[in-house]
Amino acid sequence: MDRIDAAARELRDADVAAALTGAGVSAPSGVPPFRGEGGIWSEYDPDAFDVWRFRRTPGEFWTDWLDLRADLLDADTEPNAAHRALADLSAAGHLDALLTQNIDGLHGDAASGVSADANEIVELHGNVRRAACRNCGRTTAADDAHERAESGDLPPRCDVCDGALKPDAVLFGEQLPRGALASAHEHAHASDAFLVAGSSLTVEPAASLPAAAADGGATLVVVNLDETPLDERADYVFREDVTEVLPALRDALGE
Ligand SMILES: [Zn+2]
Repeated sequence: MDRIDAAARELRDADVAAALTGAGVSAPSGVPPFRGEGGIWSEYDPDAFDVWRFRRTPGEFWTDWLDLRADLLDADTEPNAAHRALADLSAAGHLDALLTQNIDGLHGDAASGVSADANEIVELHGNVRRAACRNCGRTTAADDAHERAESGDLPPRCDVCDGALKPDAVLFGEQLPRGALASAHEHAHASDAFLVAGSSLTVEPAASLPAAAADGGATLVVVNLDETPLDERADYVFREDVTEVLPALRDALGE
């Protein structure tokens, strides 16, 4: 049997299946990775984007953030075939949760194009489409905060309590959102099939989630252009383009 068909059946036959995605899934949409050659951190100083700088000088932080954000995403950035395939697999009930390291919100865009009741998307590092008040925790659409910051309102402030707004992405020096992390671990432990797409699995917690799934007996499917530390433990490894393999998995299930 074809390896694609075999891997697709593992997803279909699993009682619980989850996927973990990283920068490699957003790259075909033109979103640069943070790490590696040509990545955001080869262009920007990571120290300018840590939580301590935000606390000390939120206005200066926001000025630099607007530049970084513009390089990361623009208004035309759209989900690609890999996002759409994952959204289709979720909508068809073949994926119970989509765990992502990405902060671009493109999984949400793809899901909203497919079904109103798409399965859970767990954003481990937050989402730059939102801003959150450091004081009261209220979240708001980032576009609004960006407009205010661009017009010189630095830092943009919460409508309710006047606290400084922060991009709702995890900065250096910040903990990952506790709820998302707990949910990701629960899904990994419960999975019978676990799909990794576009992640090199070198950054925690991404590295340990598929390992936890495999420890629990899950079938592990890895789709990534480069080698990952989990390849040896994986049942299926596709060192191919996510925009080809993920649609092929979906198509193999007739979804
Ligand atoms: Zn507030």
